[in-house]
Amino acid sequence: MRVRDRVRDGGVRNAAPVDTAIVIVGAGFSGVGMAIRLRQAGIDDFVVLEKASAAGGTWRDNRYPGCACDVQSFMYSFSFEQNPDWNRMFATGPEIWAYLERCIDKYGVRPHLRHDSPVVGAEFDDETETWRVLVDGDRTVTCRAVVFATGPLHLPAYPDLPGLETFAGTTFHSSTWDHDYDLAGRRVAVIGTGASAVQFVPQVAPQVAHLDLYQRTPPWVMPKPDRAIGERERALYRRVPALQRLHRYAIYWLLESRLPGFTTRQGIMRLGQGVAKRNIRRAIADPALRRRVTPSYTMGCKRVLMSGDYYPALARANVDVVTDGIAEVRPDGILTADGRFRPADAIIFGTGFHVTDALDDFHLVGRNGLKLADAWADGMQAYLGVAVAGFPNVFLLLGPNSGLGHNSVVFMAESQVNYVLQALRLLGRRRAGTVEVRPDVQRRYNDDLQRRLAGTVWNTGGCTSWYLDRNGVNRALWPTFTWRYWLRTRRLDSADFEILTGAAPRVAAGRS
Ligand code: NAP
Repeated sequence: MRVRDRVRDGGVRNAAPVDTAIVIVGAGFSGVGMAIRLRQAGIDDFVVLEKASAAGGTWRDNRYPGCACDVQSFMYSFSFEQNPDWNRMFATGPEIWAYLERCIDKYGVRPHLRHDSPVVGAEFDDETETWRVLVDGDRTVTCRAVVFATGPLHLPAYPDLPGLETFAGTTFHSSTWDHDYDLAGRRVAVIGTGASAVQFVPQVAPQVAHLDLYQRTPPWVMPKPDRAIGERERALYRRVPALQRLHRYAIYWLLESRLPGFTTRQGIMRLGQGVAKRNIRRAIADPALRRRVTPSYTMGCKRVLMSGDYYPALARANVDVVTDGIAEVRPDGILTADGRFRPADAIIFGTGFHVTDALDDFHLVGRNGLKLADAWADGMQAYLGVAVAGFPNVFLLLGPNSGLGHNSVVFMAESQVNYVLQALRLLGRRRAGTVEVRPDVQRRYNDDLQRRLAGTVWNTGGCTSWYLDRNGVNRALWPTFTWRYWLRTRRLDSADFEILTGAAPRVAAGRS
């Protein structure tokens, strides 16, 4: 029986009809994870609205050369779908994308996907206690609950450079790579030295005539302990899945053990900095270049990167690391603050994404006309990164302060999916119209969160990063061990929520 029918059979009068019980926005890792768990719970009345013509989220978008994950594949995968066939310890982007596609088919998510459906807003109807999800301006989907699985890193950020509009050559962002543009023999300017640039610069450098890498702040780059996983090892994991699980646990605890360096024992970071400096010395002979690429802030303040081929690429004769600020872009190149002009045929932006301001312009209107932009006027915040006071039956995946600097976000997303499922079941069991986090619970939680973040390297390490919002408040990261997050989200405490039995009946009870 479809949930919608169950909802109607619920016997509650005045239930407004809806197109579907639940809308999931986004078919990336977390959206697919949510969809799988709904199906496993016997809940089928949902759709996944996906802006693009294919699923895969960040792994569909980011197809730049060298794109890979810097978290070990055994941890960067669903706990319930361990893949014995990973080819490398750190999977490449295409391999992860293929894994997600396999999950979509294996768990029957495909029929729920609605492609080319960019969600531009959602409005709560106080009367009927339903949500109207606005798709691409002119379509709407009504539902009882909305799960936003839009990912924290999907809106490309472009630098505001004087004269950029006059540039006559080709420009593209790392997440919208122009694969039709032949880089061979060109003069290429790359702006940004973050996680993406560190991966694509070594791939691009050997192809081009010249590469100018415009660096504002150098990243800390550790060696990447990557290796191929041979057929014999893969066969072993296929035969003895417990072995792979053991390997996953080992990686989990290894990554968890890094946390104190970011939080209470930042002295540990000096050891890491020593390793990263050796990484520089091994690849770069020129003392001036060594100095230019050595960060002056504490490791961990920005995301710690890993690469074995980044520094060797910077040492190439056809690569220059430019540290003078960009003064102006001209039709045929870039002028820096020191008055030097460097010609360029193409500019590649490795300038990252809108994170803490990603939802600033998103049209989300909750109870009593409350706009998300107003609720978040002082910065984005949620309860456990999932629920926002004033927005009944809305759930965020990988929302505020549920990102990580030290472990796999897939682990966080899975914990959240489990939590959201309980909230949805609560609606079913109590025949509630809405569940909504209590404002005081959200406030206390965020006060505590910010207290915990106050002394961490992310806040005090002496750098700026996308973890911090425009007021310098960390809105991105979970401040402690991930198992603590798992513990907090394992059992939803109904006392944290206002549960109203209004006009609308239950959303979904599913199988317990
Ligand atoms: P990013 O880490 O935010 O790096 C952006 C880079 O662009 C920084 O070097 C930044 O300099 C520079 N930049 C930004 N605006 C600039 C301007 N106006 N002028 C000059 N330089 C400018 O972005 P990203 O490399 O795309 O990575 C974003 C996130 O995606 C990562 O932190 C990570 O979480 C994720 N990611 C993960 C993987 C993975 O393997 N798991 C791979 C790629 C990306 P400043 O440092 O001075 O701001």
